[in-house]
Amino acid sequence: MKAEIIAIGSELLTPARLDTNSLFLTAELNDVGIRVIHKAVVGDIPGEMRSSFSHAMESADVIVSSGGLGPTDDDRTRETVAELLGRKLRVDDVILQKIQDRFRRLGRPMPEINARQAMVIEGATILPNPRGTAPGLWIEAKGHILILLPGVPQELRAIMETEVKPRLLKLGLKQRLYTRELRVAGLFESDVEQRVSPLYAAYPETETTILASPTGIQLHPRIWSEDRAKAEAMLDEIVKRMALALGEHLFSTHGETMEEVVGRLLVENHATIAVAESCTGGLLAERLTTIPGSSAYFLGGVVCYSNELKTSMVGVPAELIESKGAVSAEVAAALADGIRKRTGATLGVGITGVAGPSGGTPEKPVGLVHIALADGRATSAAVLRLPGDRERIRQFSAQRALDLVRRYFLFPSPGRA
Ligand code: AMP
Ligand code: MG
Repeated sequence: MKAEIIAIGSELLTPARLDTNSLFLTAELNDVGIRVIHKAVVGDIPGEMRSSFSHAMESADVIVSSGGLGPTDDDRTRETVAELLGRKLRVDDVILQKIQDRFRRLGRPMPEINARQAMVIEGATILPNPRGTAPGLWIEAKGHILILLPGVPQELRAIMETEVKPRLLKLGLKQRLYTRELRVAGLFESDVEQRVSPLYAAYPETETTILASPTGIQLHPRIWSEDRAKAEAMLDEIVKRMALALGEHLFSTHGETMEEVVGRLLVENHATIAVAESCTGGLLAERLTTIPGSSAYFLGGVVCYSNELKTSMVGVPAELIESKGAVSAEVAAALADGIRKRTGATLGVGITGVAGPSGGTPEKPVGLVHIALADGRATSAAVLRLPGDRERIRQFSAQRALDLVRRYFLFPSPGRA
């Protein structure tokens, strides 16, 4: 079964408000075996709404709309759909009573316009709204199911969960969506695509999407299937083959974040960590501490933005900063080793770079970042030349620093016990 979602509301066509209802609705529909093939966002303009609904009825079995069921004049979903289906609108006394009761409980007189919310389309099933005044409507017409829901997210969610989902489950659809989430570090999106795309032909039932983000490129293989065991086995197989193609760049196969993976490695290796951050301003410490239980391995960190603080708090020699510059491999190494020594951590990480937009020079351009990891015997380091804006540079630097820790445990070097 195929669905289309229509998000109605002129505010959704401005920069002020994003259509988030359709994300929730997509997850719920997938959950009961319905694929979403199209989404539309349309303003409160009856002509536009009408063409969205009639377009949806050309290809979708289920059409779910959100919004336009309010009491004001711009809420026109009921009228538009009634007209499109050639059905009448009538006042439902039970709903009207409920709306009046609701206002009485709130100690307010019911504004005349709220009576509009008691209008229902002939032949529709009323979906009570436990959170507000406008009920949803379920209409079966011309071989389609139309589900009209209010736009207020908590009302839409409540009606979807208590009224719509049980009805959709009764359709008895056997197909379900099975997915995996792989995450990759240290490769560009095109490299990832090149490595895994030869597999696509071998698994035509699988649809794989690639998403780039500063916290790792994500690969989502997805299968719609009626056979759970078969789908899971096929996903396991494709994940195994993707893992071979991605090698050490693959850091998670079930959506674990880099900080989760690093946290697990630190625990397994009975190691602790401390950080000295300049250009990331605490982002690395922030990510490490999002993991519950991180106190078992994260000792703390210093945001040492000024040269003075790099010296006074972390012990980076002033002469080193003077001779090599604050953004240098040597200072990154001194930050890593300094914070390790001062805190007694097993590992120290130092980050220093030019996040921009100003402050770049021809030798040290914006996007140049040095990262170092020290364990008391050796230092591993990375030098990055990142494109993008300040936020992106900071995000990528924190991610790369975490990956340096991951790789440290992955590839024991000769310098380590
Ligand atoms: P409506 O049912 O059209 O009166 O919508 C009521 C309110 O719900 C709007 O003012 C928005 O704040 C919110 N809303 C409507 N549609 C959406 C949507 N698709 N995603 C998120 N919020 C929405
Ligand atoms: Mg609206």
